[in-house]
Amino acid sequence: MPEAACSVCSEPLTPTCEAVCDSCGKQYHLNQRSDLPGKDCGQVWINEDHLALEFACETCLNPSAEGHLDDILDGTEAAALVGIGIEQLVAAAEAGGIKHRKTGSGVYLFERRELVAFSR
Ligand SMILES: [Zn+2]
Ligand SMILES: [Zn+2]
Repeated sequence: MPEAACSVCSEPLTPTCEAVCDSCGKQYHLNQRSDLPGKDCGQVWINEDHLALEFACETCLNPSAEGHLDDILDGTEAAALVGIGIEQLVAAAEAGGIKHRKTGSGVYLFERRELVAFSR
């Protein structure tokens, strides 16, 4: 296997510092060892619906380079913010009413500002 490079910063990945983005499927730096120095070019968090780890690279998290992880909400959080059921929210998203992103594992992600605009 050729040496893989990070899709975010283009530097080589190391065995203790790599992850695969659920959204774009590319590899990025994610330090798996708190006792070793490493860089993070993305995030990992627990999806409470599926109790599975979700991975996302910086490129997908910050398409505009000004976004912030707090501005990305999953379906449950998004539905609570807008004040409708998650089925309604997903239906509205699929109908094109809300800009969203569906991860490889089928999780819907929303931007806070899109939801705020939708709920007005
Ligand atoms: Zn990197
Ligand atoms: Zn990605």
